Amino acid sequence: MALITYLTRIQFEAGSVRLLSEELKLAGVRSPLIVTDRGLLTAGLVERVIEAGGLPADTPIFSDTPENPTEAAGREAVAFFHERRCDGVVGLGGGSPIDLAKVVSLLVTHPEPLEQYAVILGGLDRITSRKPPVVAVPTTAGTGSEVGRAALITLEDGRKLGFISPHMIPTVALCDPELTLGLPPLLTAATGMDAVTHCIETYLSPKFNPPAEAIALDGLRRATRSLRRAVEDGSDLGARSEMMMAALEGGMTFQKGLGAVHSISHPLGGVKGTRLHHGTINAVLLPPVLQFNQSAAPHKYPQLAEALGLAPNADLASAIETLNEDLGLPKTLSQMGVPEECLRDVAEAAVKDHSTASNPRPVGAEDFMAIMKSVWD
Ligand SMILES: [Zn+2]
Repeated sequence: MALITYLTRIQFEAGSVRLLSEELKLAGVRSPLIVTDRGLLTAGLVERVIEAGGLPADTPIFSDTPENPTEAAGREAVAFFHERRCDGVVGLGGGSPIDLAKVVSLLVTHPEPLEQYAVILGGLDRITSRKPPVVAVPTTAGTGSEVGRAALITLEDGRKLGFISPHMIPTVALCDPELTLGLPPLLTAATGMDAVTHCIETYLSPKFNPPAEAIALDGLRRATRSLRRAVEDGSDLGARSEMMMAALEGGMTFQKGLGAVHSISHPLGGVKGTRLHHGTINAVLLPPVLQFNQSAAPHKYPQLAEALGLAPNADLASAIETLNEDLGLPKTLSQMGVPEECLRDVAEAAVKDHSTASNPRPVGAEDFMAIMKSVWD
């Protein structure tokens, strides 16, 4: 049996942020709460979006989204939402503010505890459509959260869990590549590699969904053509636009499920006392996971090679290593500051992660340990 769903409203164009107030009106929102982060606020991007988007200057802003969004931040934002009598949420930023915006919309109408809505705890059926609209405005090209069904949130006890439902998909995605022009090279590289990983992992997922596979390959081709360019020259609007589309396409394929890279990067993102960037972790883990999975999906590797601009029998793992190096990304988890003592817990949590079920090859805790150890030192 195959469930294939495509129905997201997307405005994609340089300058499309000007449609914000119009799209909010169409969604029935009169008083939005903007969920964003400190960096964007300080950089003046929030103000720019409020002005260009035609919102009142006193639109309430929640800017305390942590690097990896938490249950506590969600609770705080929900209190602010009620206090300011809001009726919709704008998620403005990278994956973290957009994921937090989705969870704010959930918790406004769904009783706590948040944990009960986690997909691995049977939350899918508990999330209903009775929640305020969310307009997603991405400022990075990577997450795909603007069209995805998931929000990844770290609970009070440190578990980073996925909250997944068709009702979590933003009502509208406003994709304006001009908003990514100021993204620094390293963040462009890391978020771009997140998009690349989404396209590759969803393509390799064994679930039956040919449209999603075609979209994943198209996303990968666009990223292959434009990621290096976007990193080298951040002002290249053509490259920025291609990367935003690659990220969007990666997100449109999430319904096939991700794989072992994300099984590890989800719990790693929740490790206390660290600030590990999701896309960078994925970039480092992608080569060993490609090696690990090859025997389970050999017929798909030539297609991936073609999309990456390589010969059909090329070694994908080493091509991704070279790409990471060209983009200035780290080679190992230890270089990123992952504490060695967390690896065992991360491997155990990875087994339970929702992405593990859609990895093409069965993968257990020892495999996860071996994958992480292969990119250590
Ligand atoms: Zn990701």
